[in-house]
Amino acid sequence: MKSRKDNGSMPNAHLHELFVDELRDVLGAEKQLLKGLKKMADKAVGQSLKDAFASHYTETEEQIDRLKQVFASIDLTARGKKCKAMEGLLNEAEEIMEEFEGDEALDAALIAAAQKVEHYEIATYGCLVTYATLMEHEEARGLLQTTLDQEKETDSKLTEIAMSESNVAA
Ligand code: FE
Ligand code: FE
Ligand code: FE
Repeated sequence: MKSRKDNGSMPNAHLHELFVDELRDVLGAEKQLLKGLKKMADKAVGQSLKDAFASHYTETEEQIDRLKQVFASIDLTARGKKCKAMEGLLNEAEEIMEEFEGDEALDAALIAAAQKVEHYEIATYGCLVTYATLMEHEEARGLLQTTLDQEKETDSKLTEIAMSESNVAA
């Protein structure tokens, strides 16, 4: 059995396993999201919402690169796995896009779907930052924190857009 952290009850080896599993899940999730963001940018009516989705698409590509750097920093090959939660969130987004197609509330509906995605990502990266901190993976922690900040920023931006136009128009 590997050494334990001073104050923790979980052996480091188990935390490492969980860390890697969550990394693979979120890498898969980010890749799945690329397609969804493209579709949401296409469907959005308001220009600021379109732009927000387009710029988060670019950020998501950066986040995928950052995850590859995280894997490299702990001497592992980057490998993703299918994230079932993201699959479900994107299925719902798809459903809502069809349901509100041509409706005044379409943008508001897109924002709701996108914010559910961002909150899932925030929860995941928040946990990953905690694990990296506990295991003293400094480089990984910094990279994951950068992405966490980007997801939070995106969530706030979506709220701002909802407050300023989409929801008012609806
Ligand atoms: Fe992301
Ligand atoms: Fe997942
Ligand atoms: Fe995101």
